[in-house]
Amino acid sequence: MISCTVCGVREAFYARLYSGEKLCTRCFLESIEDKVRAVIARHRMFEFNDRIAVAVSGGKDSLSLLHILARIERDFPNASLYAITVDEGIEGYRDEAIEIASENCERLGVRHFIISFKELYGYALDDIVKRIRHLESGLTPCSYCGVLRRRALNVLARRINATKIATAHNLDDEIQTFMLNIIHGDTSRMSRTGPAFDEELPNLIPRVKPLCEVLEKETTLYAYLRGIRFQENPCPYASEALRNDVRNMLNRLEEKHPGIKYTIYRSAEKIREALREKIPKIKLSRCKVCGEPTVGEICQVCQLLQGI
Ligand code: SF4
Ligand code: ZN
Ligand code: ZN
Repeated sequence: MISCTVCGVREAFYARLYSGEKLCTRCFLESIEDKVRAVIARHRMFEFNDRIAVAVSGGKDSLSLLHILARIERDFPNASLYAITVDEGIEGYRDEAIEIASENCERLGVRHFIISFKELYGYALDDIVKRIRHLESGLTPCSYCGVLRRRALNVLARRINATKIATAHNLDDEIQTFMLNIIHGDTSRMSRTGPAFDEELPNLIPRVKPLCEVLEKETTLYAYLRGIRFQENPCPYASEALRNDVRNMLNRLEEKHPGIKYTIYRSAEKIREALREKIPKIKLSRCKVCGEPTVGEICQVCQLLQGI
């Protein structure tokens, strides 16, 4: 039997290559929860009386996050936890995910709120996809979905008076986005995306990413070990080809050089700090059409909806 290198008592089942640890189930689960606690503290993600809305899609990452936050909520006795879900309107996919999300919320005793594209924009994503097939904009379903979902989360969080939105981006998501921003030379986005969005902007609920230092493979393992039921089927519209290539490239690098994902993550932090000093903070105004916060005159949501 190989013993766990943390407790020295129980049998190890998982070798964490980047640190050299061999962990038993209990020490693995605790290590993930401790890591999330440390990230929350380091980035001061939560205040003691926050109303935290966890963006729950029904997938492994968001449900792991919900379960972890429900456990460590005790550190913030006056804070309250809610789950918010966006129903984009993807038949045969999101309906199943919502049912799974609701079941988890019930199990944890967390109130669950849902908002749909149909209610908010008048179109389900399925309707939009049918319409954009005839257009030649070159935009994919994900281009619409991402922008519309972001807005929907903010609207729903405001509706329930949430003071923070917690999203389940993990370390892999973060470094993929960093590499994509490098590929596109998007220095402005590079300076703005990070574990916690600390600029106070009117009508925008601050977002935090408590899983940003946990590897994707470890959030999956966490979900399995805690017996969390999550949706495993991929979205029928998934089309982020370049992100997938970047993901594969990073996975190959990590296999050859364990720990390199963390090295890239730390480099991204340094580059972001340096860029923040150079790039002016964004100024928001109100969209002339819908009144929501925007950088230009008409927000991206209205531009997309007008194009349909
Ligand atoms: Fe939306 Fe694309 Fe994700 Fe499907 S894969 S839920 S279309 S962003
Ligand atoms: Zn152990
Ligand atoms: Zn608008």
